Amino acid sequence: MAEIVAQDVALAKAAALLAAGDLVAVPTETVYGLAADATSGEAVARIFEVKRRPRFNPLIAHAGDLAMARSYAVFTPLARKLAEAFWPGPLTLVLPLADGAAIHPLVTAGLDTVAVRIPRSEFARALIGEVGRPLAAPSANRSGRISATTAEDVEAELGDRIKLIVDGGPTPVGVESTIVKVDGDQIILLRPGGTPTDALEELAGMKLVAPGGGIEAPGMMASHYAPEAAMRLDVAEVRPGEALLAFGPNRAAGADHAAAVRNLSPSGDLREAATALFSSLRELDRVGASAIAVEPIPEHGLGEAINDRLRRAAAPRDSAPVND
Ligand code: AMP
Ligand code: MG
Repeated sequence: MAEIVAQDVALAKAAALLAAGDLVAVPTETVYGLAADATSGEAVARIFEVKRRPRFNPLIAHAGDLAMARSYAVFTPLARKLAEAFWPGPLTLVLPLADGAAIHPLVTAGLDTVAVRIPRSEFARALIGEVGRPLAAPSANRSGRISATTAEDVEAELGDRIKLIVDGGPTPVGVESTIVKVDGDQIILLRPGGTPTDALEELAGMKLVAPGGGIEAPGMMASHYAPEAAMRLDVAEVRPGEALLAFGPNRAAGADHAAAVRNLSPSGDLREAATALFSSLRELDRVGASAIAVEPIPEHGLGEAINDRLRRAAAPRDSAPVND
């Protein structure tokens, strides 16, 4: 059962849990967030587990200040202008991921962009400063349910699955952050939210662009996360020239002849497999094999999200957008 602690006395305890790779529900000005150390794959995998999210959609990496945000995202002059005007606050910027950024690929879903925001909530910023690392924090509710805006809502949603809920009272904004992608001198509106779009347009002196015409809103394309190589799922046998994405202790036939092998989790642990998924796909893709053959992965727990991502990676490359 989760302990509910008032925010003015919760800082040290929350920071210690986060630093140890645990999850903590924290108030932000938008909605309550289910926070994890964004540099730890294990911690971020727990977010998907606890929310029972069937998909690895990318998460927002929350920074405590601009220096931290700059350590993992690349700011163009336009992005800097938006940040200076609206941060701290309910605006998320999708920016290029900085070289050598410590953000775990589960946070970005393997993309080369990252969603970044500095929350207005003083507690949230103090907590990020105390942990010294960015925090990934989607809304603190079970997948498919509405966002929690009070500690009691969080308790009802996730009380049996986490250790600590920090109580900051009802969240003042009450809706999620506005998300824009800053792309060259365009600003693409990915999600309306707590920062009005007309305020953004006025500051930037331009209209926001809708992500129409099959442009990537994240996870919307069936093949969005596709590697260069073709993918073959649920294989019992590796064909000549293929690389192998393995899972668990037992190998598919022909594994000895694979162009390369990465095992997501030799012991068959789905959380470990989730943390290794995106980096393993990239590594196998670099081998230049004719295809990546993937051993069967169970459909339970995080396996559902792993299989969802693999099926998208295997989808025909020109397939139509799917609802996400
Ligand atoms: P939330 O569950 O409120 O944290 O939602 C985060 C939102 O940010 C989701 O809709 C994501 O799809 C979106 N998002 C996060 N990272 C990216 C990215 N790199 N590119 C585009 N959208 C992103
Ligand atoms: Mg949500």
